Amino acid sequence: MSLLVKPCSFCDRPVAKGTGTMFVKNDGTVLWFCSAKCKKNYMTLKRDPRKFKWTNKYVKGGIKQKK
Ligand SMILES: [Zn+2]
Repeated sequence: MSLLVKPCSFCDRPVAKGTGTMFVKNDGTVLWFCSAKCKKNYMTLKRDPRKFKWTNKYVKGGIKQKK
């Protein structure tokens, strides 16, 4: 993978440098978002990207939860 491309922290699609949003958390973790949609889903809605078909992290058939 090129140094100029980072995977989106939410949908895992490549984010070219100069596009999208870089977010640094207080603990120093760097997050990359390809779009405001991903940022909102991660930051505001705190959604699990594995539950959404439009992300590359989607798990087919849904996540099997342990009881
Ligand atoms: Zn994204």
